[in-house]
Amino acid sequence: MISSSLKSDVRPVVSLIIPMLNERDGLQVLFERVARVIKDIPMDWELVVVDDGSTDGTRDAVAAELKRFPKWRLIFLSRNFGQQPAYRAGIDQASGDVLIFLDADLQDPPEMIPQMLEKWREGFKVVTGCRVSREERGIRRIFFDLFHKTFHRMTGRIMPVNSGTFALIDRVVANQLAAARETNLFLPALKCWYGYTQTTVQYARKDRIIGEPKQSFRKLFRYALDGLFSFSDLPLQWIAGTGAIICALSFAYAGILFIEKILQIFGFFSQLRVLGFTTLAVAVFFFGGLNLLALGIIGQYIARIYREIKGRPLYVVESVKTSEMKEN
Ligand code: UDP
Ligand code: MG
Repeated sequence: MISSSLKSDVRPVVSLIIPMLNERDGLQVLFERVARVIKDIPMDWELVVVDDGSTDGTRDAVAAELKRFPKWRLIFLSRNFGQQPAYRAGIDQASGDVLIFLDADLQDPPEMIPQMLEKWREGFKVVTGCRVSREERGIRRIFFDLFHKTFHRMTGRIMPVNSGTFALIDRVVANQLAAARETNLFLPALKCWYGYTQTTVQYARKDRIIGEPKQSFRKLFRYALDGLFSFSDLPLQWIAGTGAIICALSFAYAGILFIEKILQIFGFFSQLRVLGFTTLAVAVFFFGGLNLLALGIIGQYIARIYREIKGRPLYVVESVKTSEMKEN
């Protein structure tokens, strides 16, 4: 066993975690850039690559690429579980004193890593990459902007504005994440939620250079909802608030009708005013829709409770290869 005094002389280990789903075509560029960055940083590097059920040959290609690094760990999940579970698998397997999350598509530049490590040496436990600009356009861009605005309004700024998964965390935060039992994982906010000293580094986010985004629009939408619903119960309060307002309005309207009826009894109106069919139809559709919407929102929370309560594993590891033992 290494004594603690000896251990303090040992260089810190940095685990670079990269999840992958069908990223074969970009592997060479990715690892070239990563190798160039870590070459000049005198720390012990460990690459933790998680293959999230790739079917395009990434599995073999990545094993070959990793051989150029002295220390690595390659985790094969049994199927595609999604980006967040893949990152979580990496966190659980990483041995570093400091962990860095990097997407395989180079949208977030590995060249920012030295700056992030500098902040870590200054004592920050969480360093988040913040996008000063984005190259993405179209519907994805609109969706990203809308999500970030809504998320910050609803969650009271748990995570820095315009940030994502690209970040560095200290071992203390990694231990917290590894102990988290959440199935609806939203790491960009969760890693900040624990507290500890935090800071940001700014960078310009590129578009993907190779391949299509692996987070399909449906996956992204679900990911956004996971973020919103696991960090805010504001939608439930909106339902209660809307219900209260509608109740108040209908009481007021009932009061008006009551007064009208009294006035009619005392002969102020010769005949009762009858409301039109259109008003009635609109009201029925509106409140029917509102009810369904409210049920849908409650359903979102229930579905998440259901997922949590089942207690299924977040991911399943099929096999692990490491630089030391090659296979186990
Ligand atoms: N990814 C993954 N599993 C998935 C989807 C994505 O491991 O089910 C990986 C992907 O290979 C990439 C990272 O997660 O390394 C980010 O994916 P992508 O670029 O598609 O997402 P976006 O940039 O839109 O967040
Ligand atoms: Mg991407």
